[in-house]
Amino acid sequence: MRAQIVAGNWKMNNDLSETESLITSLKGQTKTSNAEVMVAPTAINLFSAYNSLKGSGIEVIAQNMHFAANGAYTGEVSAAMLKSVGVQTVILGHSERREYFNETDEMLAKKVDAALANDMRVIFCFGEELADRKSDNHEHVVESQIKNALFHLEAGAFKNIVLAYEPVWAIGTGETASPEQAQDMHAFIRKTLANQYGEDVANSVSILYGGSVKPNNAVEIFSKPDVDGGLIGGASLNAEDFFAIVNAF
Ligand code: PEP
Repeated sequence: MRAQIVAGNWKMNNDLSETESLITSLKGQTKTSNAEVMVAPTAINLFSAYNSLKGSGIEVIAQNMHFAANGAYTGEVSAAMLKSVGVQTVILGHSERREYFNETDEMLAKKVDAALANDMRVIFCFGEELADRKSDNHEHVVESQIKNALFHLEAGAFKNIVLAYEPVWAIGTGETASPEQAQDMHAFIRKTLANQYGEDVANSVSILYGGSVKPNNAVEIFSKPDVDGGLIGGASLNAEDFFAIVNAF
C-alpha cells in the first residue's frame, strides 16, 4: 500500500554529455519491481534530463531549491522554476546541504512549505552523525530534525512527503547501517509520526533508507517491513548497479 521508491542522487557529478549517456544506459535497463524510480541530476541538467526521460517511467527530481519565490538570491533556484522545467519532486535537507551550506531545520521548514505550496513532492532527508549514535542519542536527533522541519504541517500535507533516513556516518563511506539498525530507526520514525498525526498518516508515508546502499546489500535492507526504498548516491551513477537496486524489491 505504501509507495516503494528508489531515488538516485547524482550530486555534483556528470556534465551534460555524461548526464545524457547515463540516461541512455538507464533507458536500456529492465525494471522487474514495482518501485517508483527517480533520478536527481545537477540543476543545470534538469531540463535536458526531463526531456530525455519523458515517458520512460523514470522521474527527474531536483537535489535542492530555495524557499523564496524569486528575488535577490544569487545562484539559487525556486520551486516554480523547477516546475517550469517539468520537475515535480525535490530532495530537501540532505546532510551535505546541512553540513556544507549551513541549512538549518528552520530554513528547511521554509523550503518544505515552499515546495508544498507549489504542489511539489518532497523527499525530506535527515539522520544522525556517528557521535550521536555512539552516545545513544540518535533517536533524539532524528526526532528533533523531523519535528522542527515538518510538525508544523497539517496531516494532509504528508501525502506529498517522503522521508529519507540517512545516517551521516553511512553516506559515501561504504559503511552501511545494518538492516536491523535501519528497521529499528524506521519503526521509531513511524511511531514518532503516529504520535503526532495518528496511525493512518504514519502508515501511509514512505520512509527510504540512504547510506551506502549497493546491489549486494539492497535486498536485505529493502526486505525490512518499515523500509520502503532507498535514496542512493554513489551506486546511482552506474545504470546497471542502480537498476539492480531498483529490482531488489
Ligand atoms: C546519499 O548521498 O544520499 C547517499 C546515500 O550516498 P551513498 O549511497 O553514496 O552513501
